[in-house]
Amino acid sequence: MLQIQENLIRLSREIGREERRLAILGEGNTSATLDDGTFLVKASGSSLSTMEAGDLTRVRMDVAMAALDDSTLGDSGVRTVLESSRVDPSSKLPSVETFLHAICLSEGGAKWVGHCHAESVLSILATPHGANPFLKHIFPDAIVVCGRHLAVVPYIDPGLELAREARRSLRAFMDTHGAAPKVILLENHGPVALGASDKEVLNILLMLDKWARILVNTLSMGGPRFLPESVSDRIESRPDEHYRRAQIAQAQ
Ligand SMILES: [Zn+2]
Repeated sequence: MLQIQENLIRLSREIGREERRLAILGEGNTSATLDDGTFLVKASGSSLSTMEAGDLTRVRMDVAMAALDDSTLGDSGVRTVLESSRVDPSSKLPSVETFLHAICLSEGGAKWVGHCHAESVLSILATPHGANPFLKHIFPDAIVVCGRHLAVVPYIDPGLELAREARRSLRAFMDTHGAAPKVILLENHGPVALGASDKEVLNILLMLDKWARILVNTLSMGGPRFLPESVSDRIESRPDEHYRRAQIAQAQ
């Protein structure tokens, strides 16, 4: 657990670096599974950039998941669930997005999750276009790092309702594509990266940030020229791109 905790602190601080403009103040949250029915998640109100061990709360997966199916829970009920989900009752209250992380770490198959409010990505998600500009690709590396397809969740109240909507989106995505996405875009909110490693989560968020900035930049030159679907499919399936993807995920 200590190594995972250490790596999660490092990942959180990387996402929270001020110059990256991915998250400020208490924005964003991170998590990692401990593969024993529990996971570590950022405590409510703590800052990614100054993350310390005490800002991570170990949560029981079954308690968080049970709340998703309990339609009777109001705001006070949600708080009670968050309190009772803690393995150590003296630890800080976990983030209200704990339920979203539980979904990504269970049904989404992720080992590590990072969510932020990237200025660049929000500059698109908060327009009338919503997530649509991300549904077609404009350059190969975004396909390699962020995946051929991204899942989308329309704006919804953060917390339990958002997690339920994310679960619906995730299930529909997996029915269509046969695998979980690497990215869930929350419209008017921000991206969620689902990774097999802490490094992959950071790679996804940095590539998504670059992708968003390029999309916005293209508007001054006539708008994006999207890659044809067949080209994007080809990049996704090329053996050398699979190799490259594995190399990128391992590089430190
Ligand atoms: Zn958020």
